[in-house]
Amino acid sequence: MKRVLITGAAGFLGSHLCDRFIKDGYHVIAMDNLITGRLKNIEHLFPLENFEFHNHDISNFVHVAGELDYILHFASPASPIDYLKIPIQTLKVGSLGTHNLLGLAKVKNAKMLIASTSEVYGDPEVHPQTEEYWGNVNPIGPRGVYDEAKRFQEAITMAYHRFHKVETRIIRIFNTYGPRMRLNDGRVLPAFIGQALRGEDLTVFGDGTQTRSFCYVDDLVEGICRLLHSDYAEPVNVGNPDEITIGEFAEEIIKLTGTSQKVIYKELPSDDPKKRRPDITKAKEILGWEPKVDREEGLQLTYDFFKSLSKNELSEVDHYNFDKYIK
Ligand code: UDP
Repeated sequence: MKRVLITGAAGFLGSHLCDRFIKDGYHVIAMDNLITGRLKNIEHLFPLENFEFHNHDISNFVHVAGELDYILHFASPASPIDYLKIPIQTLKVGSLGTHNLLGLAKVKNAKMLIASTSEVYGDPEVHPQTEEYWGNVNPIGPRGVYDEAKRFQEAITMAYHRFHKVETRIIRIFNTYGPRMRLNDGRVLPAFIGQALRGEDLTVFGDGTQTRSFCYVDDLVEGICRLLHSDYAEPVNVGNPDEITIGEFAEEIIKLTGTSQKVIYKELPSDDPKKRRPDITKAKEILGWEPKVDREEGLQLTYDFFKSLSKNELSEVDHYNFDKYIK
């Protein structure tokens, strides 16, 4: 049985990866320090013999007993509200954490895939974004702690690949959504759906003309698996190129949820990218991958998940109040 270490395993993406690798017959070693992850996302896997969980902060030395075939590095806060709350941990997990895991990959002779992000492109001057674009990032803004950690992560990963010959893969993930997103992480989709379910107005930041492109989580997971098993070591964009303005997105959520609330406008957070859409030519050519789930279907599946949450879970609301953290 092949053995895979998944970091950030209790998070949104990490937990879906645990499910997928269990389904594919792997022994899954899940690791998380539970700062932003939740055990609830993986508790259904605890009874399985081929699943183990370690509560560990990978910014400290990482030890895994026995052989390891693959490492999937998905540990990191990943929403603007999280970077504002825990900036130092965000920098440490992307830099020190990645270094520790690359060291582990080297001694175990494991293949390692790192989760990078469209944030490496910053507020892009090239649209849509190809992997060749180097980005437009403000290193000292509030997002800098995430963006620069992820850029460093790519640099050290390529260095281990070139210098130590570690088998590495880099995925640049664009906005992804689906069940198990945290309602209180400040991201636009759980923010809007949470607001609709609680009977509050939907908060659009800025004038709502900024764009994003949303990929359903199952499509992303398929892209990750294909990249892991490919022989391509340079970064690959994975995301859904179907671009929409945040204002239009709010209207879609109003329609989906049938809420009678309206849209209200709030100040745009600093360095909020004006547009974002992946060029997925490489993923198509190298991985034979493209998204299959359209927004209508994906949003319905995600809404069904949020509707199933308890009242207590729905009322965790301190999240989309950015002002509280910016001051
Ligand atoms: N956004 C919004 N209202 C919210 C939360 C977010 O209008 O309550 C906007 C945010 O300013 C950004 C977009 O939605 O332009 C996507 O934000 P998110 O935090 O989900 O992801 P990212 O900015 O990292 O793409």
